[in-house]
Amino acid sequence: MKVAIIGAGFTGLAAAWILSEGGGEVEIWEKNAAAGGLAGGIRSQGFSFPAAWTWDLEQYYHHWFTNDEIILNFIREQGWGDFLLKGRPKTAVWLENQIWALDSPRAVLQFRPLSLLSRLRLAAVLAYLKYFLPPRHFKKLEKIAAAAWLEQSLGKEGFTKLWLPLLKAKFGPYFSQVNLAWFWARIYKRTPQLVYFRGGFPQLIHLIEKKLRQRGVKFNYQQEIEGLKKGENEKWVLVNNKGHKFTYEQILLTLPSAGAQKLFPPLKAEFSPLFSLGAQVLIFAFARPFLPEQTYWLNISVPDWPFVVAVEQTNWIDSQFYGREHVLYLGNYLVPEHKFFHLSTQDLIKKFIPFLRQINPSFSAAEIKKAWRWRFQSYQAQPLVGLNHSQKIPPLATSFKGLYLANQEQIYPWDRGTNYAWQLGREAAQLMLNEAG
Ligand SMILES: Cc1cc2nc3c(=O)[nH]c(=O)nc-3n(C[C@H](O)[C@H](O)[C@H](O)COP(=O)(O)OP(=O)(O)OC[C@H]3O[C@@H](n4cnc5c(N)ncnc54)[C@H](O)[C@@H]3O)c2cc1C
Repeated sequence: MKVAIIGAGFTGLAAAWILSEGGGEVEIWEKNAAAGGLAGGIRSQGFSFPAAWTWDLEQYYHHWFTNDEIILNFIREQGWGDFLLKGRPKTAVWLENQIWALDSPRAVLQFRPLSLLSRLRLAAVLAYLKYFLPPRHFKKLEKIAAAAWLEQSLGKEGFTKLWLPLLKAKFGPYFSQVNLAWFWARIYKRTPQLVYFRGGFPQLIHLIEKKLRQRGVKFNYQQEIEGLKKGENEKWVLVNNKGHKFTYEQILLTLPSAGAQKLFPPLKAEFSPLFSLGAQVLIFAFARPFLPEQTYWLNISVPDWPFVVAVEQTNWIDSQFYGREHVLYLGNYLVPEHKFFHLSTQDLIKKFIPFLRQINPSFSAAEIKKAWRWRFQSYQAQPLVGLNHSQKIPPLATSFKGLYLANQEQIYPWDRGTNYAWQLGREAAQLMLNEAG
C-alpha cells in the first residue's frame, strides 16, 4: 500500500509511525525545510540562530503537562525517557501592575486583586471544574457559553478582572461564543508540573524522523502540495509546487480543513472549515533575565495589552543551553485581519516596549540582543471552539475512498497540543490500515 502524508507536524509523524509499522510504503510531503510544524525549531527549520546556543528553540513556546500521557508514554517506550525534564516553573498572572501566582489553592486564596468573597467563589468554581465534573459531561458543557457561565458563577468582579481579559485576548471579538467544555478542559487537564524535552521539541522530532527513515519512510521537504486529483483505478495523484505528479492509494491531509478543501474542492460539500485565529510570537534574547521572580509563564490579565502571554524559557530551562542568554516569548492570538500582522517587526517591538517596561521598569530596548518574529495569519493556531462544537468537527475519513483528514480542528474537548496531535495521527493511521484491509 503506497501512502502519502501531507504535513510533517506531530500528526503526520504519528501517522507515519503507525503506517510504517503496519508495512505501508509511506512518503511525507512538507512545505517547510524540516519536520515539526507548529512545534518546529528555529535552527532545524533553517532560520538564523546564535552559534553559541547548544539547544534548538521552538518557534512557538512548548511544554507538556505531566498527564500528556500519550506522547510521554510513547517517548518512554522508545527508551528516550532520560530526555524528559520535569519541573514546576512559576506560572502567574499580571494584574494591577503586579505578578500574582495563581497555580495552587493557596495562591487562589491569597489573590488580593479580588475581594475575599470573589476569591472563595473562584476557588469553589475551579475545584468544581477540576474535581467534580468528569469528562463524560463535556457534551452538556458545550451547550453553555463559557463567558456567561463564568460571569454568573464567579460574580462580576472575579469574571471581569481575571477571565474576561484572557478570553478576549485569546478569542478576540468571538470570546462570548467559546463554549464551557473548552474552558473546563483547560482547568481539568492542566497540571502545575510541566515537562520539556532535553534539547527542545526539535530534538524529539529529529529522533522520530531518524527512526522513521530507518523504517523506509521518505521525507520530501520544501515541497508544497498544490493539487490533489482522483486518478485512474481508484488511485490519488498529488501535484507538488514543481508541477510533478505522484500516485498513491491512500492520502492523509494534516493541514487545516480550509487548506484541504483548496487542494481538493469536492471536500467543500463535506464540511465547513472551523473558524480559527492566527498566532503571532516575538522572541527576544537578552543578556539578563526579564520577568521578575523567576516567572516562567505570565498571563496578561489586563484589557487591551498588545500581547496575552509572556513566557521566559530560561526561567525554567537553564540559560547555559542558550549561550547564557535569556529567552523571552511574547505571544498573541489574533483575528486574521488584525493590524499587528501588517506592522514591521521594528514597529511591533516599539509598540510592545512601554508594556514591557511596566513589567520590568529597568528594561531598555537596547538590551534586545536578538529578536525573531513568527506569525500564522489565517492558520489553525487556535480554532474557535463555539457552542455545540462536537457537531461541527470534520470527520477523519472523507466520503472519498482513500482520502483522510487529521488536523487540530478535530481535537476536542481537549485544548490542541502535540499530545493530542500524536493521538490523532495514530487514530487516522489505524483507520487507514483497517480500511485498506
Ligand atoms: C503559540 C502556540 C503555542 C503552543 N504551545 C503548545 C504547548 O505548549 N504544548 C503542546 O503540546 N502544544 C502546543 N501548541 C500546539 C501544537 O503546536 C500543535 O497542536 C501541534 O504541533 C499540531 O501538529 P499538527 O501536525 O496537527 O499540525 P502542524 O504542526 O500545523 O503541521 C502541519 C504541517 O503541514 C504542513 N503543510 C501545510 N500545508 C501543506 C501543503 N500544502 N504541502 C505540504 N505541507 C503542508 C505545514 O508546514 C506543517 O508542517 C502550541 C501552538 C501554538 C500556535
